[in-house]
Amino acid sequence: MVTLEKKENTYLNFISGAWVASAKGTTKASSNPFNPEDIVGHIQMSTSADVDHAVSAAKAAKKSWKKLSGQERGHYLYKTADILESRIDEIAECMTREMGKTLPEAKGETARGVAILRYYVGEGMRKVGDVIPSTDPKALMFTTRVPLGVVGVISPWNFPVAIPIWKIAPALIYGNTVVIKPAFETSVTCVKVIQCFEEAGIPAGVLNMITGAGSVVGQGLAEHQDVNAITFTGSNEVGKRIGQQALERGAKYQLEMGGKNPVIVATDADLDLAVESTISGAFRSTGQKCTATSRVIVQGAIYDEFKNKLLAKVKEITVGDGLQEGIWMGPCASENQLNTILSYIEKGKEEGATLLSGGKRLTNAPYDKGFFVEPTIFEHVTSDMSIAQEEIFGPVIALLQVEHLEQALDLANDVQFGLSASIFTRDIQNILSFIEEMDAGLVRINAESAGVELQAPFGGMKNSSSHSREQGEAAKEFFTAIKTVFVK
Ligand code: NDP
Repeated sequence: MVTLEKKENTYLNFISGAWVASAKGTTKASSNPFNPEDIVGHIQMSTSADVDHAVSAAKAAKKSWKKLSGQERGHYLYKTADILESRIDEIAECMTREMGKTLPEAKGETARGVAILRYYVGEGMRKVGDVIPSTDPKALMFTTRVPLGVVGVISPWNFPVAIPIWKIAPALIYGNTVVIKPAFETSVTCVKVIQCFEEAGIPAGVLNMITGAGSVVGQGLAEHQDVNAITFTGSNEVGKRIGQQALERGAKYQLEMGGKNPVIVATDADLDLAVESTISGAFRSTGQKCTATSRVIVQGAIYDEFKNKLLAKVKEITVGDGLQEGIWMGPCASENQLNTILSYIEKGKEEGATLLSGGKRLTNAPYDKGFFVEPTIFEHVTSDMSIAQEEIFGPVIALLQVEHLEQALDLANDVQFGLSASIFTRDIQNILSFIEEMDAGLVRINAESAGVELQAPFGGMKNSSSHSREQGEAAKEFFTAIKTVFVK
């Protein structure tokens, strides 16, 4: 019985245009965090031999892919976008089953993947350099951009369609070939995305996918001599190691890592908007977004009113199986993730914060098999507490009270991260100070902290990133090298 199910549900690696089993043939089940007995698929647990195989396929394909025009490369992305669009319902359902986010959110993310692909089709037709006046009147000097070669993509589970695509699409359009290693938890979703590229006719070796453990496949990619650049999204711990490995062998690297994103609510804020945006920013996707709101810094004069509105609103959140209609917040993506979140809730209590709402694992039916935690709000949080400093990556917010905006900004900046930040105010001086003084790559005024537009640069300051930017035109900076040309 089990063997039959395994056969039907086994997903392979994609190397050199073919679906192949890993060298050892070992597989592992990817399961549903709402009910781990629901096996979404069995994925290949690849070895370093598979990494070699995939990298050599990408290396072999890079010359001919590079020679195509941007328009020709764009043609494949265009077709992939259409195929992905026709499969939105199926791929979104797979995503919800694999990592728990609600079906409407999963559909929205898959549609975002389609839009990203279409955006990068256009990038293949845009300018790649400048003419710079030479001091020699008889010479022509200009810059052009060239691909890096083989790009290794290591992606997380929280946006299993959008993040792989926002790395793969620019890598390909600017002439690189790719080997992707998706997060273990969402490997089946990634397989389905790769199938769309395959169906679009992407030439053999241009895009390759290998699944397996981060410590084997991810590390193998990061250390591989023939991988010219690595783009990574995930934890700081792993990211820093990847950066060091890349630096050692002279490869280009890009790291997008954690956040501890603040929202400031000023005395003159539209409180209903601030409450709605805080709930959405903190609890959508079960708080598992790198841009999720995790600290809410509120001015004293409106603190109680804001708190009471927030506590009323949090009660409206419906928690359950993300596939069911009417469910607003799904389970945590994995048991590990659930345990990390619960341990932070315990730390919050131990360190003296007051639990205002939530804080418990949900264990009664229909939650009994899944990894559910209540949306949680703490108050009396001070900036030195773990829940105010460390990324929890779950549905937990810390309320901090201040008197003045200056204090609010100091607290907002008092963390190692600098990914995104919001303020709710109608005062232009508050807005200008926030834009000027907030150390974050993404600052949002009267809008929730989570929210990224595909045509705009995305990335963090401080320990949130390696300081490059993804998405939009900014992706060109990472995925190409500038060549200065002097012609006489
Ligand atoms: P990880 O950093 O562990 O995983 C991200 C990716 O890196 C996965 O594909 C993973 O593979 C891979 N990986 C793991 N170990 C290595 C390694 N030694 N060398 C190379 N690649 C490796 O993050 P998690 O997914 O476990 O999430 C943990 C924390 O990371 C979260 O709690 C959150 O703080 C942060 N995070 C931040 C994100 C962001 O967007 N900024 C997104 C996701 C997570 P595998 O899945 O097989 O382990």
